[in-house]
Amino acid sequence: MNAKTPVLHADAIELVALTKCYAQGKPAVDGINLRIASGSYCCLLGPSGCGKSTTLRMIAGHESVTAGDILLENRNITDLPAAARGTAMMFQSFALFPHLSALDNVAFSLKMKGVDKATRQQRAADLLERVAMGHLSARKPAELSGGQQQRVALARALITQPRVLLLDEPLSALDPFLRIQMRAELRRWQKELGLTFIHVTHSQEEAMALADTMVVMNHGVIEQMGSPHDIYNRPVSEFVARFMGGHNVLSTAAGKISVRADHMQLAPDTQGLADGDNNKRAVITDIEYQGTYVLVGLQNPGESLSASATAEMSVMVSEAGFAGQSFAVGQSVQLSWLPEASHALVH
Ligand code: ADP
Ligand code: MG
Repeated sequence: MNAKTPVLHADAIELVALTKCYAQGKPAVDGINLRIASGSYCCLLGPSGCGKSTTLRMIAGHESVTAGDILLENRNITDLPAAARGTAMMFQSFALFPHLSALDNVAFSLKMKGVDKATRQQRAADLLERVAMGHLSARKPAELSGGQQQRVALARALITQPRVLLLDEPLSALDPFLRIQMRAELRRWQKELGLTFIHVTHSQEEAMALADTMVVMNHGVIEQMGSPHDIYNRPVSEFVARFMGGHNVLSTAAGKISVRADHMQLAPDTQGLADGDNNKRAVITDIEYQGTYVLVGLQNPGESLSASATAEMSVMVSEAGFAGQSFAVGQSVQLSWLPEASHALVH
């Protein structure tokens, strides 16, 4: 037997100093290093223009690489054509051919490869069966529900037997109700198929719901990578804390910190206590009832109330906790938090 222990969970994808420059100026993707574990659901998350789609298109082979390398299961695929990589792409709104049946949509890429009709139709039928769409294989996309279309799109992407499925904002054109349904289904299929999914989204809520690993990008670089739980509880930077939402970024004598909005307490400012490492004076700017909790918007004291359109800080008070007090817009309050609820931001 070989002395080396085999690696059971190899990386499906490794990006090494991956860079893309479209023109002069700042690179769209700026030397990113990333390893994505085999069989995991990875979400690339960040604001519009941060380089998510460019990264995904380079992995897919739809965009040339300026510098760096892309490895798929330890194979360097940087210069391979898209069809030879072992990746497949699922596009926004599924992008099915409207004039083709579900079966012909799924069989399409095999037709392009010159696979004979009987073989490609059999393979397409098997895959439609696998995603529980066998009975609807003769229907055109317009005759299918959103969920059924997504399954056809999935089968179409799977027919090339990819090792990694790439999804670029597949849910963002759907209405909110369908989007939540479809994301649960995507997650279920990913686990069932055991494939590696790399899913681009600008929605932190979507990424948190789906991802084993979240990669938060900004201006062509990776700001933070980790599980949704780690990133939500320990954002490393002001950018990540603000982008994830639900956090307050504060400057204290000890430096810049972030504290979750649901980890702060609110009390009337009766004693005029000065700001400290675990407390801060503020003025209530707005109060929003949210059902299970009340969202209280706050700003620093001494600023005119109408000056800012959005609150600088917010605190989530439980509905029961809120009912026991009488907070009002314009009131001076004390915010406080436990030392362990705050953590330092590196930048
Ligand atoms: P995201 O998907 O995160 O919104 P993109 O990867 O599409 O971001 O874009 C990253 C940056 O690269 C943006 O500044 C965008 O304008 C630019 N960019 C994207 N595609 C092209 C292109 N084909 N030609 C020139 N610039 C592009
Ligand atoms: Mg994009």
